[in-house]
Amino acid sequence: MTQTKNLSSLEKLLLGIDLPETPETVSLHHRGELCPKCGQAILDYNGLLQLECSACEFTEGSEGVGCT
Ligand SMILES: [Zn+2]
Repeated sequence: MTQTKNLSSLEKLLLGIDLPETPETVSLHHRGELCPKCGQAILDYNGLLQLECSACEFTEGSEGVGCT
């Protein structure tokens, strides 16, 4: 009699395995915030609904997570 141990979902939960990673959704910047890059201007939305700095080329979304 071979003992094959199949963990039930409850056991997995108790063992802390097989848990989906839940990365915190961090909203990087907000409209009206000072540009984190140059600090010269405030961020505002451009035509692509991305927060953009008018003083430098900073655009939220252009760096970091590339989600198209
Ligand atoms: Zn800037």
